Amino acid sequence: PYTIEQVKALVREFPDFPSEGILFRDIFPIFRHPEAVECLVNHFVDYIKALGKAVDVVVGLDARGFLFGPLIAIKLGVPFAPVRKRGKLPGQVVSVTYMKEYGPDVFEMQADAIESGKNVVIVDDLLATGGSCKAAEDLVAQMNGKVILNAFVISLAGLEGDKKLRAPVYALMEC
Ligand code: 5GP
Repeated sequence: PYTIEQVKALVREFPDFPSEGILFRDIFPIFRHPEAVECLVNHFVDYIKALGKAVDVVVGLDARGFLFGPLIAIKLGVPFAPVRKRGKLPGQVVSVTYMKEYGPDVFEMQADAIESGKNVVIVDDLLATGGSCKAAEDLVAQMNGKVILNAFVISLAGLEGDKKLRAPVYALMEC
């Protein structure tokens, strides 16, 4: 079995990816080790349970939030709902426009994914500026859900992404 420190050590850094000047954190090596994934998921589940609040839905961000969001949801015994880029989800959707580095982008959720008043945990691999997660918080708010936690594997220190968010932030590691 893996310790959480061993899981952290699996994250790799790639300079100048996907473009020059960007130091990319790669979490996929974790998924080469099933026991590391299990440790990571259990770590999040334990953290969420320790909040002592009812969690009704886990929301994952496109695309790496889909890797462990559903695993956390299964262990909590609650539904998983995806946030996707525009045009990917069928049926009625709620949408929000947010600013990315090179211009505006649109995130959507299925309008019936979260019932009014439900408690939500948002998960993604990495928090940078917080723009993506803020958009997800806005989508949940449009459905009158309540975000009780934003959970990440990595938070980039210095960007203050957490300051953009309404709900508290938990990150397994700060880089
Ligand atoms: P933000 O909206 O907070 O500025 O950026 C966070 C989003 O960009 C997340 O969805 C995350 O997956 C992606 N992202 C940005 N930089 C990195 C990185 O270095 N590694 C990984 N894995 N994802 C990143």
